[in-house]
Amino acid sequence: MSGCIFCKIVEGQIPAKIVHQDDLCVAFEDINPVAPTHLLVVPRRHIATALDLVPSDAAMVGHLHQVAARLARERRIAESGFRTVMNCNAGAGQSVFHIHLHVLGGRPMQWPPG
Ligand code: AMP
Repeated sequence: MSGCIFCKIVEGQIPAKIVHQDDLCVAFEDINPVAPTHLLVVPRRHIATALDLVPSDAAMVGHLHQVAARLARERRIAESGFRTVMNCNAGAGQSVFHIHLHVLGGRPMQWPPG
C-alpha cells in the first residue's frame, strides 16, 4: 500500500536489516530496539491491524509465529524466554498500521506490560 513504511521495506524500497524472508513474510531488526533482541515479523501483504484479519489469514498468522520461534532459537533467546507482541490500534501502542509481530528477548520481561 502506498505510504506504508513496512510495505516499502517488504518491497525493498527502503533499507532494513533483514534477517528472514519467504513467500509470506519478511523479518527485520527494529530500528528502535527496546530489548537486546528486537525483531519484527511482517506479512508481505498489507493488513492494517489485527482487526482486519479474516479466517483465510489463519495459516499466515501461524506462520508468523513459527518464523518468530525459529528466529528466537537462532538468536539463542528461546530457552531463556522471549515475547511476541502484536499491538492493535494506537491505545495499545500500534504506530505502524501494517500488522507485525514484535519478537523481544535477551533481558528479563516484566508483566503486566506498560
Ligand atoms: P508498533 O508501535 O507496535 O506499531 O511497532 C512499530 C515498530 O516499528 C516500532 O518498534 C518501531 O521502532 C519500528 N519501526 C518503525 N519504522 C521502522 C523502520 N524503518 N525500520 C525498522 N523498524 C521500524
